[in-house]
Amino acid sequence: MNIETLAVHSGSAADAATGAVAPPLYMSTTFERDADGSFPSGFVYGRSGNPTRQALEECVRDLEGGVAAAAFASGMAAIMSVLQALSAGDHVIAPQDSYHGTAHLLRARLARWRLHTSFVDMTDLAQIRQAITPATKLIMMETPSNPLLKITDVAAVADLAHQHGIPCVCDNTWATPALQRCLDLGADLAVHSTTKYLGGHSDVTGGIVVAANADEDSLFSEIRRIQEDGGAVPSPFDCWLILRGIRTLPYRMRAHCANAGRLAAFLNEHPGVRQVFYPGLPGHPGHDIAARQMSAFGGMLSFRVRGGMDAAFRVAARVNLFTRATSLGSYESLIEHRASVEGPASATPDDLLRVSVGLEHPDDLIADLEQALDYGG
Ligand SMILES: *Cc1c(COP(=O)(O)O)cnc(C)c1O
Repeated sequence: MNIETLAVHSGSAADAATGAVAPPLYMSTTFERDADGSFPSGFVYGRSGNPTRQALEECVRDLEGGVAAAAFASGMAAIMSVLQALSAGDHVIAPQDSYHGTAHLLRARLARWRLHTSFVDMTDLAQIRQAITPATKLIMMETPSNPLLKITDVAAVADLAHQHGIPCVCDNTWATPALQRCLDLGADLAVHSTTKYLGGHSDVTGGIVVAANADEDSLFSEIRRIQEDGGAVPSPFDCWLILRGIRTLPYRMRAHCANAGRLAAFLNEHPGVRQVFYPGLPGHPGHDIAARQMSAFGGMLSFRVRGGMDAAFRVAARVNLFTRATSLGSYESLIEHRASVEGPASATPDDLLRVSVGLEHPDDLIADLEQALDYGG
């Protein structure tokens, strides 16, 4: 089935007990046993399983074409569970331009638990090959990347990883399964911050891990145990909200992509803009790979403002339709001076603004950017 159909129907059978068409929200933390001690529904206790959470897991599993999924309380909790499935002394290869939370988790937290990481340029297979050691137990990808929209060739990296018997995970948050099916491309695991496009309304925090293989000795079966033992589970209401957001994901993504394409083309021609980072632009270094592995180029873009950091701040101060806030993937457009969010260690140019292009009319967004850029500097 196509993704629009899966998004509508997966995890959404009418409730057998009541006929309710919208999926019920099960807040219960505990489930009754039969007189013989068995649990007829399969549910026991909220941390180990909940029907609303299960509906979300089944839906995202189906969208990604995986065999199982485990939902978490945030994207970082999902990524943490993948890393906690490794052992002290293991080695991880991660992108230089990892989401800053992921890089910080690896450097500041997990290094103390002797999980060592090499950060490499994921667009350079030779660098990845060189970084592999006998201790390498995971290769991480994230594409398009944050905030420079670099494109990693998922199939090529997955091939390289598998030649060395190493599993790989792709953070598919920016692309979503509506644009990029990273498990089909060869990744063993997909992770998401469902806070972003899957939720889609800036009103719920969540994460999920989807697996291509959930055998007893797989990384995923350990992740499932960490979900229960570690307890970083989402609330049933959070799962319900994310599931509600997913129903319209494929159609929202079409509009996000179309709007971002229009804005990128406009900014690319504007004299007040130094450089635009959007994989849909033919001059983008990852354009050909993105065209191959994504069905559209996404709703995120970044651009460098001519005139440096002050000029970038001025543009962000003058826009009316773009909210100055972090995060991405919701219906409203957001603009952000990324370097100041990432802190002093950031390698992001200080004249760069990142935009999460929302679902407003593109003509209105372009007019707003035009008046904000036309400061005469
Ligand atoms: C936001 C984000 C995360 C972290 O997700 P949270 O829900 O904020 O914990 C991880 N990866 C990417 C690519 C993100 O954009």
